[in-house]
Formats: sequence, C-alpha cells, structure tokens
Amino acid sequence: MKNIIKPCGGCTACCAVFGVREIDKEPWTVCEHLVAKKGCKIYGKRPHMCREFFCLWQSVEHMTEEERPDRLGAIFATTNGPTEFTGAEEIQAYELRPGSMDDSKVMRVAKRLSAESGKLIVAHLHGGKALQFFGPQAKIDAAMEWAALPEIDMAESVRKASKQLQNGTLPKLRAVWTSYNKDKGV
Ligand code: SF4
Ligand code: SF4
Repeated sequence: MKNIIKPCGGCTACCAVFGVREIDKEPWTVCEHLVAKKGCKIYGKRPHMCREFFCLWQSVEHMTEEERPDRLGAIFATTNGPTEFTGAEEIQAYELRPGSMDDSKVMRVAKRLSAESGKLIVAHLHGGKALQFFGPQAKIDAAMEWAALPEIDMAESVRKASKQLQNGTLPKLRAVWTSYNKDKGV
C-alpha cells in the first residue's frame, strides 16, 4: 500500500485517461459516471481499477497544489513493476491535453521526479498514439535498444499498449515510442 498523504480533492484527471474494462470505458475518454464539479456518481461502487489507482502527486510530499494533475496537465504514476524495456520500475506520465507534456511546468516536474528517483519517465502523449522518454541517458539507451530488437513490431506494440490501457493493465505495458527530446534538459 502506497503512503497516500493527499486525497484527490477536486481532481478527476484519471477519469479522463484510463480505460476501465469493468464499465467498458475507453481510454482517453471522460467517464460517463463523472459529474462535473461533483465527481464520481458511483463512487461507493466504483470499479476495482478506480479504487486501486494512486498517482504520485498523492504520495510525494513536495508536489504542490499547483502540481495536482488536473492543474498541471499531466498525471505521474509509478509502473508498479518492472518494464520490459529497462527491467526496472519506472515512472509513467499521461498528458491530459495535447501538448501539455511540453509545458515548462510539466517538464520541471518530470525532471525533478526523474532526478530524485533515477527512473525513466515514460510519457504517454494525449490520445495514446505516441510515447516520449525522458530521464537518465543509460535508461533511455536501454529503452531504445529494446525498441530496436528485430522481434519488436512497432505497429503491433502500439496496438498492444492501446489494448492494455483499455484493460487496465498498462502499468506493465509493452510499449512503443516515437521520440524523446534531449533538448528538454532532463
Ligand atoms: S490523477 Fe491522482 S489526484 Fe487526480 S483523481 Fe487521479 S488519483 Fe486522484
Ligand atoms: S467509475 Fe468513477 S472513479 Fe471510475 S473512471 Fe468513472 S468516474 Fe472515475
């Protein structure tokens, strides 16, 4: 059990990102059970996946109110297990609005979390069509090596990642990415 020190408050960001199989919710769509300014209308009976998801903002003490996912524009969360591309637990980021990963505030948070933990940031761009990687160069290199393996079919990997997001198994995803940007200074 993670050490959750902050309740979600008014944030409902993950209700617009993850797929939830139990209620046929597609990824990157707003949940039909979400009521504006009120939250989840089936909160007491919300699916297992909704109950089990915790983002890093909730457990990292120094993340500020302004860095709450809905205000920041991105959700950060650990992968809850080793990724295939580095063999270690890393951090995932989910872009809430197209382009928000490029926002300087989001990049500052990504840089900080990566520097503190030594982990790779695997950023899912809005809509789930591409990934970006930020963080320690050795980990980026390991991820790029994984992508270059002859048995890795990029199109198939995108399809699988999309399906895993739908199935709620994304934290152990087999993923693909299109680019990473060294100029971000992370
Ligand atoms: S993104 Fe984090 S703070 Fe926001 S609703 Fe989800 S778990 Fe709560
Ligand atoms: S069921 Fe409730 S908690 Fe789960 S995604 Fe929908 S609105 Fe959010």
